[in-house]
Amino acid sequence: QNRTLINMESLVADCIAITIQRHNLPAENITLEPIPGVIRLYTQGIAEDLRTAVLNVLDNAVKYSPDGVHIRCSLAISNYTWIALRVTDTGVGLPANQFKRIFTRFYRVPGRAMAKIKGTGLGLFLVRNIAHQHGGEATATSPGPGLGTTISITLPLATPASSATPG
Ligand code: ATP
Ligand code: MG
Repeated sequence: QNRTLINMESLVADCIAITIQRHNLPAENITLEPIPGVIRLYTQGIAEDLRTAVLNVLDNAVKYSPDGVHIRCSLAISNYTWIALRVTDTGVGLPANQFKRIFTRFYRVPGRAMAKIKGTGLGLFLVRNIAHQHGGEATATSPGPGLGTTISITLPLATPASSATPG
């Protein structure tokens, strides 16, 4: 397939714009923290698939925040090796024993808060598969029920050939 060098900052910004439009949200309700320095966060992969993954995570963040949506996205580099995208919402949150399960096929967290919100349980299964296809990973964490959720996608950092040329 079409593997290209992808600027994650602009891909995430595009997905945020799409999500804001789709859900008719005030623009300030989904923010992307500015990336420090002049570094460009590139990964190698299939842009269409990564867009699908990020849109699914943003869609969940909106959907599982029934009392008002405030989503903070950030991009960071770790170990000069990984790009980490974090999407933090102010929604229904998760108990620790669900952090892994929510990525399995057709799985939905049981309970009343979730039952009111429709879904098939496929979104995060797809997100994790796309992360794996890129040599990365998808994880979840939350301070607890009612306290919001953070979904992270880590992807290998790629260096554009031009800037990798010595001299
Ligand atoms: P689909 O995405 O297929 O329409 P879905 O949203 O239920 O359905 P997933 O996106 O795979 O499925 O998410 C799995 C489950 O994880 C959800 O049903 C929900 O219980 C929980 N979940 C996902 N994202 C969040 C979030 N941001 N906050 C709280 N719970 C979440
Ligand atoms: Mg979903």
